[in-house]
Amino acid sequence: MSRIVVLGSLNMDLVTTVDRLPQGGETILGGDLGLFPGGKGANQALAAARLGGDVVMVGRVGSDTFGNTLLSQLEQDGVDSTGVQRDPEFPTSCALILVERSGQNVIVVTRGANHRLGNEDLQRALRVAGPKDLLLLQQEIPSTIVGEAVAHSRAPVLLNAAPPTALDPDLLRRLAVLVANENEAAALFGGDGTVEAAEEAARRAHEAGVALAVVTLGKAGAVLCDATGTARIPAFEVTAVDTTAAGDAFVGALAVALGAGTPAREAVRLANAAGAAAATRAGAQSSLPRAADLERLFGLRWPIRRTVV
Ligand code: ADP
Repeated sequence: MSRIVVLGSLNMDLVTTVDRLPQGGETILGGDLGLFPGGKGANQALAAARLGGDVVMVGRVGSDTFGNTLLSQLEQDGVDSTGVQRDPEFPTSCALILVERSGQNVIVVTRGANHRLGNEDLQRALRVAGPKDLLLLQQEIPSTIVGEAVAHSRAPVLLNAAPPTALDPDLLRRLAVLVANENEAAALFGGDGTVEAAEEAARRAHEAGVALAVVTLGKAGAVLCDATGTARIPAFEVTAVDTTAAGDAFVGALAVALGAGTPAREAVRLANAAGAAAATRAGAQSSLPRAADLERLFGLRWPIRRTVV
């Protein structure tokens, strides 16, 4: 089985609830502090490993306790974290999140180790990811590193365009897979939130050279465009509790399914199942499903079996 090499972000999310968001200069009392491991890179690495992927994570955390926690969470789920470097100077990147009772939130993402990701890390990822593997990227690390990784990878590349930044034509031409949610797809290729617009965005990405372009549509499922044309793949019906990390579950699952040789339409269907399962549970990494969850929820047989120690 091919390996999935994730070159991406690792964050610690620091979350507290407040009755109302404070004004400038104001100090208010919040609820307890919650610490939640996150970052799209780490989330997708975990999502893939929980679904049987053989996953190597390459990234950067600080030489601090948040870094320890992030690494041990990855290891617990069987991700090979030896590619994650401890930055001697810069702290682990954090997201500072205030959630108002109304559900409204404000978030500040600190720079930290994710933004120190440099050539040394890039070379590590490129060395590890061989032609039979899959290199999985998101955009929470410096865009120059993403560009270089796509340009020099021996492995086919799956890019999750989150958060969206302009993608140059050379980069698009080299992508095996592009995954964007409907907002990201609209930012990159235009669109007005309709399924037709998402299909058009996927078609444009494919015409720009992406072998398989996928746009996720929340509870409407996903659309794809590849050499065989476009297709709408419906979602699995669930009672959604919290859709945080549904996209990460989708991408991790898609990487595993494609890596196992599953045809694109079926791989997107399986990824829809993983996204829907994540929506049934609160939290980010805590909501990422295992094969047993997909079987229990949807009677679905996951194509890969691997025992995670
Ligand atoms: P993101 O989290 O990046 O915004 P989406 O909201 O599009 O991404 O969710 C990713 C995938 O998760 C969707 O394509 C879908 O398969 C699944 N999903 C998300 N929300 C739901 C939901 N409410 N019901 C069923 N499936 C969902």
